[in-house]
Amino acid sequence: MRFPLCHSPSACRLSNIVPMSNGLSYLVWFRKGLRIHDNPALEFASKGSEFMYPVFVVDPHYMEPDPSAFSPGSTRAGLNRIRFLLESLEDLDCSLKRLGSRLLVLKGDPGEVLVRCLKEDYASSVGIEVFSPVSHTLFNPSDIIRENGGRPPLSYQSFLKIAGEPSCERSELVMSYSSLPPVGDTGNLDISAVPNIEELGYRDDEQDERTPFIGGETEALKRLDESMRDEAWVADFEKPKGDPSAFLKPATTVLSPYLKFGCLSSRYFYQRIQSIYKSVKKHTSPPVSLLGQLLWREFFYTAAFGTPNFDKMKGNRICRQIPWNDDHEMLVAWRDGKTGYPWIDAIMVQLRKWGWMHHLARHCVACFLTRGDLFIHWENGRDVFERLLIDSDWAINNGNWMWLSCSSFFYQYNRIYSPITFGKKYDPDGKYIRHFLPVLKDMPKQYIYEPWTAPLSVQTKANCIIGKDYPKPVVCHDSAGKECRRKMSEAYALNQKKNGQVGDEDLRNLRRKLEKDEHDESMTRKQRSKLN
Ligand SMILES: Cc1cc2nc3c(=O)[nH]c(=O)nc-3n(C[C@H](O)[C@H](O)[C@H](O)COP(=O)(O)OP(=O)(O)OC[C@H]3O[C@@H](n4cnc5c(N)ncnc54)[C@H](O)[C@@H]3O)c2cc1C
Repeated sequence: MRFPLCHSPSACRLSNIVPMSNGLSYLVWFRKGLRIHDNPALEFASKGSEFMYPVFVVDPHYMEPDPSAFSPGSTRAGLNRIRFLLESLEDLDCSLKRLGSRLLVLKGDPGEVLVRCLKEDYASSVGIEVFSPVSHTLFNPSDIIRENGGRPPLSYQSFLKIAGEPSCERSELVMSYSSLPPVGDTGNLDISAVPNIEELGYRDDEQDERTPFIGGETEALKRLDESMRDEAWVADFEKPKGDPSAFLKPATTVLSPYLKFGCLSSRYFYQRIQSIYKSVKKHTSPPVSLLGQLLWREFFYTAAFGTPNFDKMKGNRICRQIPWNDDHEMLVAWRDGKTGYPWIDAIMVQLRKWGWMHHLARHCVACFLTRGDLFIHWENGRDVFERLLIDSDWAINNGNWMWLSCSSFFYQYNRIYSPITFGKKYDPDGKYIRHFLPVLKDMPKQYIYEPWTAPLSVQTKANCIIGKDYPKPVVCHDSAGKECRRKMSEAYALNQKKNGQVGDEDLRNLRRKLEKDEHDESMTRKQRSKLN
């Protein structure tokens, strides 16, 4: 059995999970789609069956502590996301119980556990009927790829043209039930309740600040209602105009973690936005509108679904081949919020503490790591986000990292975010920096974005000596940016010359040339300064 990425959850008709009854039984396998509303698999399984077995499999790789990881959490996920998932499962279990059912939690490798559940049917390959509807996305990516001649559209506009209206535009979604079929006899299966964080092996005090966002469908629907209450806000939403430094009341919906785990149906979200659009005189349009944001999600899902090696530079036909630096020390400085640029470091601290940042904040740190300043591989940044984001989503994360590093989708590598002036436009007093980097809380406003320029007397008064209490900048932005542009221009020229066939040897040669150029340039600079 293989379940494509957007089909979740699934319902399997059972005959052998339990000592038999005469009626129909269904197993509903929750992976994403942790909700009751608009859940076609649940709807399907609930109709006319005598028993229904809602199952979630706890995968130890995803959930149990890995002490060697760079932040509290498992091998694959940071603690904030694990906690968010547990809260979502707890909420789902409560909702199922209210309807006369409950969530059956099993433990182990999900593939193996499910096979164990279905073992006799599986062995004989008869009697299993799998219903795996598309309900995680608005569109079925394979329909769009087929429509586009077998390849995913690679620009948002061409995606929109092909996609048209999603079918949920006209369909009525099932939002609730009066009851669900009960769980029958579970035989010898080792079933537990939803574990808490301590039962998974974590200490409750392992993190100094927890994400303020609580997991689960109840919270998702509450958040959605709050966002939709302000119809003018929904109608006028323009993504590039939002304030990335707003943290007490974020400038966007913060529904991404709920969409990621399927606590919120994207189709319901879509319908709610559409109903507001129908009731107002005018509203914004894609790509900047709120509906447009949901369509970006669809765009990246479709691109990811139809592109082999989407999560790698190598062997990925839509990704420019670029000889990125391999500098672990710089990567760690970026990851740990120690670059010496307060705007960048505050964003990275928000990522670690909250697992969520505004889209433009993500732009700034992704640009800084890759083509803006450090010239480090986007895959390294992707890995850090993948671990720490509570909304970490394979298709969207990889797609956006390629975008920001000018490896795919977007190619204007000359446009670099300034780690000093960009944040200042939105937050001249530096409230965001003071909140996430309390070491700088008393730094006067005129130095908050460039504390290394503050006279020592000012640093002393602010209790923050640069180089001791807070790092000096790891690079000079102006010269690093210039250097990055030069490298990008040479890498682009190579990609063009080789017409998408850049090999390892080509990249090695280019890296050597770039290193030599950099060395020569620094010698010339030194000589010039001696002469002066
Ligand atoms: C480097 C980088 C990595 C990212 N990684 C992720 C990720 O792992 N998971 C993730 O959900 N988003 C990711 N994003 C996209 C975007 O930043 C978040 O979706 C958004 O900030 C979530 O906040 P929100 O729910 O308030 O968004 P809103 O502006 O309220 O948008 C509503 C929904 O639209 C979708 N959406 C919004 N922007 C985008 C976008 N650019 N691409 C795709 N879908 C979008 C999300 O599902 C979001 O919840 C990334 C962006 C960058 C630049």
